[in-house]
Amino acid sequence: MKKKQFLVIGLGRFGTSLTKTLIENKHEVLAIDRDMNLVEDMASIATQALQGDSTDEDVLNELQVQEFHHAIVAIGDNLQDSILTTLLLKEMGVPKITVKANSEIHGKVLTKIGADHVVYPERDMAIRLARQLSSDTLVDYIELSPDYNVFELTAHSSMRGKTISELNIRAKYGLTILAIKSGNSMNVSPKADNTIQDGDILLMLGSNQDIQHMEEKYGRKR
Ligand code: ATP
Repeated sequence: MKKKQFLVIGLGRFGTSLTKTLIENKHEVLAIDRDMNLVEDMASIATQALQGDSTDEDVLNELQVQEFHHAIVAIGDNLQDSILTTLLLKEMGVPKITVKANSEIHGKVLTKIGADHVVYPERDMAIRLARQLSSDTLVDYIELSPDYNVFELTAHSSMRGKTISELNIRAKYGLTILAIKSGNSMNVSPKADNTIQDGDILLMLGSNQDIQHMEEKYGRKR
């Protein structure tokens, strides 16, 4: 993985977790917060941690923010500072800006002023959890677009011993099996004659609607 330089603004729970994970993944992170205590906590973790107000243009100029690959604005509650910071980063030519939003309306404004990506961690985590709790089979999913996802599903007991061609999932449900996880091994691009075993996890690509149809068919027949 190529090392990248990130600028993380706001060291609340989100900004702190993000910084730690980026560092674990061997990237460089300059972390900023106006609260000196949070900056001190991050000093031994981030590549560099600085105290500063991100709505102050001079502060951003001094940091040469345009040199970073990606800036993440992790200011949630303070709408005004979140929006102003995003606007300044955009004007200064930061190549990529991701912003955490706390509400739909906050997100809409951020998109209008040029945020490349808006994330809603609380909302998305709640939706993810609710979907997992509602399903007997859904392990996890990765959102590719609002309609299409990669789903991780525990193979239903009635699939056991059947080959992929026998299950005929693509023709029946419009879903593509990308891989089969069996214990610690991963069969990527499985062949039509590969057999589903007990406890296998299927990685499938498809629309929300298609996966729902499949879950309705298999979900109640455990
Ligand atoms: P989280 O859910 O991640 O804990 P939050 O959504 O509750 O955070 P806030 O606590 O409002 O968001 O902001 C996150 C951090 O951003 C705080 O530590 C705060 O000090 C910092 N912050 C807010 N405004 C600015 C600013 N203008 N410049 C620098 N830091 C800021």
